[in-house]
Amino acid sequence: MGAMCGVFGIFGHEEAAHLTYLGLHALQHRGQESAGIVASEAGVLKSYRAMGLVADVFTEGVLSQLPGSAAIGHVRYSTAGSSHVKNAQPYQVSFNGGQLAVAHNGNFVNADEARRELEEAGAIFQSDSDTENVIHYIARSREPTFEGRVVDALRRLDGAYSMVFLSADRLVAARDPVGFRPLVLGKVKGAFVVASETTALDLIEGELVREVAPGELLVIDAAGVHSSFPFERRGPRRCVFEHVYFARPDTKLFGESVFQVRKRLGAQLAKEQPVSADVVIAVPDSGVPAALGYAEAAGIPYDVGLIRSHYVGRTFIEPQQAIRHFGVKLKLAPVRSTLRGRRVVVIDDSIVRGTTSRKIVKMLQSAGAKEVHLRISSPPTAWPCFYGIDTPSRQELIAATHGVEEIAKYVTADSLAYLSLDGLMRAAGDETGESFCAACFSGHYPVQSAQVLAVGR
Ligand code: AMP
Repeated sequence: MGAMCGVFGIFGHEEAAHLTYLGLHALQHRGQESAGIVASEAGVLKSYRAMGLVADVFTEGVLSQLPGSAAIGHVRYSTAGSSHVKNAQPYQVSFNGGQLAVAHNGNFVNADEARRELEEAGAIFQSDSDTENVIHYIARSREPTFEGRVVDALRRLDGAYSMVFLSADRLVAARDPVGFRPLVLGKVKGAFVVASETTALDLIEGELVREVAPGELLVIDAAGVHSSFPFERRGPRRCVFEHVYFARPDTKLFGESVFQVRKRLGAQLAKEQPVSADVVIAVPDSGVPAALGYAEAAGIPYDVGLIRSHYVGRTFIEPQQAIRHFGVKLKLAPVRSTLRGRRVVVIDDSIVRGTTSRKIVKMLQSAGAKEVHLRISSPPTAWPCFYGIDTPSRQELIAATHGVEEIAKYVTADSLAYLSLDGLMRAAGDETGESFCAACFSGHYPVQSAQVLAVGR
């Protein structure tokens, strides 16, 4: 799986690996499981990949072993495809056309069928990942150029991909025709950069050139950037959940400020689902912009009611004697002076399984809140994502099997309300209701496969 990932690539900069390291750092929110960089010098590719955060995986010593003026990088988080270093990207291989490396954000929906076919033809896979299919198809392609092979390979696969490829002498970037996952083209000191989000360009003091268009293929080499549209055209449907939760708020996504969109989601939520209350608080960090928008639109003061620890690692040692709601307590602590005796509106971006929301509501109640009104700045998440956001199966999504009233009871809130799908689309800047993929809320999947058809409507 290339699920929930960030990609970065740079061509024509003497500190390519170092800038990739910084770019990945700015994309860390897109995946915390593993990180990797492949750099190219004089046609030779060198790579380093490991489990962990970018700042822990890469040291000065490691980066100095990755010389060259071109590089690609990847941060990964995934549930399907196990949590193992063999699945860490970018993948690097030697094949009959030379050396190549690839990093993928997204998910191919026909990967299982493709893999079966390739294995029957004798292919030996090294990982569990859907991304590896691309490499096998590239190796089998009869096209004379590297980019021709990439196109040949991607035409055999369907679903979500924002990808970067590195060969001995060029960087290739591709975005699927639906444009599920973001990808932008930028520039830094004469070098070209591609990245999942603009925040990566900002950190390296690069400038945004433009969004890589859905269905576009970019070839970047010593001659510059060459653009083409070799894939079958489809109406673009960018992922609205990037705006709701996934992208960083300082990013400019699909031409809009994520922070401003999230504030508008909160304002729209206040219009649709008002409530008499004394204070509006956010579940940090993801609920903050929407809570600001809600408070402003509702005319209720915004305050800080929960503090998030930024030092929670992936593993922690639990005390032998049970502490209730231990996991959430490590991450969030209530600010009693904000909460005691108050009627509280608490804003979060989404409810997935409902377990966190329940713990948070209980935490607010134990800290003395008189009433807790939970408001969610997106519609009920009732359908799994097959296009690169990590969601559990339909059975595990609480909104798939429970109505809003039942969920309110489960999380023990005095009231619970969600943003409408129409309200979401309007606030995200979609007048027609056609330009985003909102399958996680609607069940209408824009790209089908056997796997998707088994679940969708
Ligand atoms: P839950 O306890 O499963 O309802 O978790 C809800 C929380 O998970 C919300 O605070 C969301 O911000 C967050 N969230 C939503 N989608 C995802 C995702 N795909 N991966 C990780 N966290 C998520």
